[in-house]
Amino acid sequence: MEKKRIIFDLDGTLLTADFTNLMNYFTRLFGEEGMLFYNNLVYKYLDEYEKEFHQYDRNSLSKFLTTRSGLEFTPSMVDDWNDIVASIPQKQENGVYSMLEQLAIHDKSLVVLTNWFRTPQLERLKRAELLDYFDQVISGEEYLKPHREAYMAAKGGYSYEDVIFVGDNLEKDYIGPKSYGMDAILYDKNNRNHHSIVKMKRLGELKRRI
Ligand SMILES: [Mg+2]
Repeated sequence: MEKKRIIFDLDGTLLTADFTNLMNYFTRLFGEEGMLFYNNLVYKYLDEYEKEFHQYDRNSLSKFLTTRSGLEFTPSMVDDWNDIVASIPQKQENGVYSMLEQLAIHDKSLVVLTNWFRTPQLERLKRAELLDYFDQVISGEEYLKPHREAYMAAKGGYSYEDVIFVGDNLEKDYIGPKSYGMDAILYDKNNRNHHSIVKMKRLGELKRRI
């Protein structure tokens, strides 16, 4: 294990959540249109926001969502949304504790780089008893993937060769860091991506791959 700093995505990589409560919240607010909104949320609206903006911010997000969806989205709805996310039912990915334990034993610096608001993501890491493994949690309120400054902030003072990114999103966790000269392994548990991509099916593989 030669890498000194390992940078993890959160959702779909360390934890997987059941977002039904969020879907119900949007349905209560906007009826059937809320359901449609929820279905488009991650891959359309948030993905677009993350490309256009460099930080999550309750005001700019609510304005953006109002414009894009045609639904009247207020900043306080973003606050409610974050409260729901903070207590969302979730489970840890298979092998996450033993992987982090192994890396900690070998004195690796571990970082989370997640594209969402800071408070709910910290709360979720705390609830899963994962927070103490990490030297740093960088949230979407500071930087957003796939912008260069997010990867550079996560790299910190380490050299390019010493860091590696691990995550489940091809564009944000793999192509992004690689395009700025850093290593990455795609966490691809269902083996969905092309064979030419450096990937792993199980988190347990990580320690012999770095
Ligand atoms: Mg993810």
